Amino acid sequence: MGHNSVQPNRFSRRRALGAGALAATAGVVGVPAAAAVPPEGAMHPAHAWRRLVEGNERFIEARQQHPHQGLPWRETLVDGQEPFACVLGCADSRVPPELIFDQGLGDLFTVRTAGEVLDESIIGSIEYAVEHLSVPLVVVLGHESCGAVTAAVDLVRSGHGGTGSISTLVRGIEASVLSTPQDDDPDAFLAACIVAQARRVVTQLRERSELIREAVDSHRVGLVPAVYDLDEYRVTRR
Ligand SMILES: [Zn+2]
Repeated sequence: MGHNSVQPNRFSRRRALGAGALAATAGVVGVPAAAAVPPEGAMHPAHAWRRLVEGNERFIEARQQHPHQGLPWRETLVDGQEPFACVLGCADSRVPPELIFDQGLGDLFTVRTAGEVLDESIIGSIEYAVEHLSVPLVVVLGHESCGAVTAAVDLVRSGHGGTGSISTLVRGIEASVLSTPQDDDPDAFLAACIVAQARRVVTQLRERSELIREAVDSHRVGLVPAVYDLDEYRVTRR
């Protein structure tokens, strides 16, 4: 999975930097302002976020480009990868990051687990993307109607969190439910819990990984929680 090999015809990060795109996303929480200087040749976190947003807008409007999937492009990937973002998303079959962001092979380093729940292997995978693939952006992507978060809400209410390893998984979301203010509207409460979980996973990544924390604090990497809306197909930074 090396990334240092020189590959002609590869997407040029430096060339892709655009002042307009940077200005449009300056001030994004968790994404350093455009004034922060990324390493030489690296894509700016704000530009990586912009690229995801633009792909999601194509998906929303059903005018996908399905980029980076043809035979010539696949050949360029044989010797290495240079993804421009890492997405930690839910395993839910309705939320594949490459589709909802209209990206292709080699674009996203994707890690998926129900409810975005972390363990050491998942943290290690994200650290790999940050340290060895130099991704400028990590997105924690929750989604509407998440079954794992719904199970955690049921756990808090009934005390039943499923059996076997499912129980361990659901208990990994419990704190997000407990930290969410009660709401008489169950749908609104679930939606708030889903946002809380994405945000808490961001916090956990900072707390549990010195490598990720230092990359974010030094403005090399943006770290943002986001939620995908199943009705409107839109990813919104939360
Ligand atoms: Zn889910």
